[in-house]
Amino acid sequence: FAAEILSVYMSNRTFTMIKPDATSKGHTGAILDQIIKAGFSIKAMKWTRLTTEQAGLFYDIHRERPFFGELVDFMSSGPIVAAILEKDNAVADFRKLIGATNPAQAEEGTIRKQFAASVGENAVHGSDSDENAVIEGDFFFSKLERY
Ligand code: UDP
Repeated sequence: FAAEILSVYMSNRTFTMIKPDATSKGHTGAILDQIIKAGFSIKAMKWTRLTTEQAGLFYDIHRERPFFGELVDFMSSGPIVAAILEKDNAVADFRKLIGATNPAQAEEGTIRKQFAASVGENAVHGSDSDENAVIEGDFFFSKLERY
């Protein structure tokens, strides 16, 4: 029974960041507007800036990839907005809303298509699984900071 409640709860939440390229170009409000209009509700949110060490920890899974250094430098280059979002089928629906990692391959109307410049500087992050949504939300927010 407890596991059932947990799985329902988890599949309703995802984690996002508005990345430094988008915050520095002034797209934060427009992106949040599209997220809310798509039916996501914000359960926690903060404007912050990552150190290179924190960005490296967040993207630890990519540590051996050739783009890791560039990714860490980019993600610590300016402010980000981190947020926990809630909606039915949150992870999959949010990935659909943001579009493919490479904006050149993202569908028309997606957030990355509209606001991203390149595969690296791609405006937004969206968790790729329910499990990672919880891990990533916990990276930024204490229990007191989400509801
Ligand atoms: N990234 C990059 N070069 C690549 C692939 C990815 O700089 O060739 C960056 C990009 O910012 C991406 C992040 O690394 O969003 C994480 O990559 P992932 O494949 O997990 O893509 P996502 O889940 O963000 O679409």
